Amino acid sequence: MESQGAEHGAEDVPVIYLHEIKRQYLQGEVPLTILDGAKLALWAGQSVALVAPSGSGKSTLLHIAGLLEAPDSGEVYVSGAPTSQLPDIERTQLRRTDIGFVYQSHRLLPEFSALENVMLPQMIRGLKKSETVKRAKEILGYLGLGDRITHRPAELSGGEQQRVAIARAVANAPRVLFADEPTGNLDPGTAEHVFQALMQLVKATHVSMLIATHNMELAGRMDRRVSLSHGQVVELD
Ligand code: ADP
Ligand code: MG
Repeated sequence: MESQGAEHGAEDVPVIYLHEIKRQYLQGEVPLTILDGAKLALWAGQSVALVAPSGSGKSTLLHIAGLLEAPDSGEVYVSGAPTSQLPDIERTQLRRTDIGFVYQSHRLLPEFSALENVMLPQMIRGLKKSETVKRAKEILGYLGLGDRITHRPAELSGGEQQRVAIARAVANAPRVLFADEPTGNLDPGTAEHVFQALMQLVKATHVSMLIATHNMELAGRMDRRVSLSHGQVVELD
């Protein structure tokens, strides 16, 4: 397993390691190869930008790395452990505890408050309600939403909605956070706030983060930039 970054010792294991990932979709009868042996190591505390044209497979890569979709072949290692042979229930458990996901649209539950949206993943995981309230308040406060916790998504601005979605994604203290064009729907000023919230979390919690984005300015402020070319992950810079 190759290390990507001199600061990592041989004893370190990436939080996520994608090995030789292949994924095809059928377009009618014609197979369309999207990922063709993609490899990528994500390290704790590292923010990585995935910058590639639309249709190149960014979402596909994030879904596979986030255990939301299975590759046709290849392996996704989480903290060094292969996941392809896990029973569904264990893979789901791993996704709940180790992986957070943020999408371009917030995907919050409209009938629930910000607080409840952040409590839910913790309750699904089996934590006591009082604990989930405490932690949800903490995270929302940390992301500057302390005075918005009773608001429903429709009563929040786009940037606030996205920060609640981020709070929900890190509610269970995941090891890795995947964000699929999280600022794609936002104006530049709001995008900046949401981006800062993500970077703040990387610094504070040592989570590993992979963000698909078209925003080169934001990508330039992250630790590392990668792209997709002919179905493979390539390092930029
Ligand atoms: P990106 O996020 O970089 O825009 P995607 O990963 O969403 O790219 O998609 C990569 C390619 O795979 C696109 O050409 C898309 O049309 C195709 N694709 C994605 N999902 C499916 C699917 N479920 N069925 C068929 N083709 C798909
Ligand atoms: Mg996409």
